[in-house]
Amino acid sequence: MNTDFDLLLAGAGHSHLGVLRLWASRERPMGRIGLVSAEPHAWYSAMMPGLLAEHYQTRQCRVGLPKLCAAAGVEFVQGTLVALLPDTPELLLATGETLRSTWLSLNLGSLPRLPEQSGDGMELLSVKPFADFIRRWQQWQETPEPVAILGGGAAGVELALAMAGREPELHLFSADDLLTGHQPRLRRIALKHLQRAGVQVHEQSPIQAVHGNTLIGDGQIRWRGRRLVVATGPYPLEWLRESGLRLDSRGFIEVTPALQSRSHPHVFASGDCASLPGAARNGVHAVRQADVLATNLGRAAIGQPLRHYHPQTHSLALLADGHGGALLSWASLTAEGKLLGTWKDHIDRSFMRRHGADD
Ligand SMILES: Cc1cc2nc3c(=O)[nH]c(=O)nc-3n(C[C@H](O)[C@H](O)[C@H](O)COP(=O)(O)OP(=O)(O)OC[C@H]3O[C@@H](n4cnc5c(N)ncnc54)[C@H](O)[C@@H]3O)c2cc1C
Repeated sequence: MNTDFDLLLAGAGHSHLGVLRLWASRERPMGRIGLVSAEPHAWYSAMMPGLLAEHYQTRQCRVGLPKLCAAAGVEFVQGTLVALLPDTPELLLATGETLRSTWLSLNLGSLPRLPEQSGDGMELLSVKPFADFIRRWQQWQETPEPVAILGGGAAGVELALAMAGREPELHLFSADDLLTGHQPRLRRIALKHLQRAGVQVHEQSPIQAVHGNTLIGDGQIRWRGRRLVVATGPYPLEWLRESGLRLDSRGFIEVTPALQSRSHPHVFASGDCASLPGAARNGVHAVRQADVLATNLGRAAIGQPLRHYHPQTHSLALLADGHGGALLSWASLTAEGKLLGTWKDHIDRSFMRRHGADD
């Protein structure tokens, strides 16, 4: 394969999905463009809890990348990136192959941080990458056992509500109070739903390590079991530290409001892997950045002024309650109910339809 591109999109995150969709419906930048993705599908995080709760089927929650790329006039390259040289720029794949391009756009997401583990008495299942998570979770369903979930943020709460009733026991561990950063009322509503669903919630219970079949927090055994779901995101991808790109103190790529790397202007970054003041790490910003990114990738190549991404102060969060309803959090507003679940379902299905998923 000729490995030289004019533009490479690395990672099939929410922003690149939007870029491909826009290019499929309007003119794309000139030159040879490729998308590199570890897997042939892009998964939509907002529908993961609904998939676990069996409200959706797998095909409704993921987008086939070869088809979307073909519609956008972009070559699809399946491969896992293991290193990046931003000066050239060059991408090194796990196969040993190197791809080169003039312009590069990174939309690689983030990963939860796994606790330190000794022994093999407990299986740790990270919520990301989604494809591995779903495949393993479905295998677990064949022999149900008690499960603990690590992470008391929106993802951990939604996953607990979706998994409840499918396992003989479900425990949710949160290092601080549940849903920190949201209104206290949202926490109270979530606790009510979790209690009703039979989930045992452990707040202010940070877990530092897994020893054998035990969870250890502050030197004490907090839980015994063999299955742990880790939803403690978002943490940066470790290998980016070696890249030479300018990173923030946590290890995310520092970008300008034009989504351009602060150290390497021919590299763009968006979504969870980027660090932009005011843009929290969630799917809302990753999706919204697509429009600005699509424009800027075209303009940068021909030396035109770039657009800026202006993060909204508040992001709408709709948490599935596991029974077709949803909990809403937006600024100081919180609410719950079936109608919100119907609305969330409509938003999510419309998003997937726009990007070519099977409905
Ligand atoms: C269970 C759960 C539910 C969530 N629900 C919501 C929600 O309802 N609303 C919301 O706003 N946020 C939600 N989030 C957060 C949301 O998932 C993230 O903020 C969002 O996915 C970030 O999107 P992104 O575009 O940065 O990257 P992602 O969508 O995470 O995609 C990253 C892509 O990069 C690829 N990739 C990564 N590493 C490599 C590599 N080395 N080589 C090649 N490809 C690679 C991955 O395969 C993936 O395709 C949820 C998170 C979880 C865990």
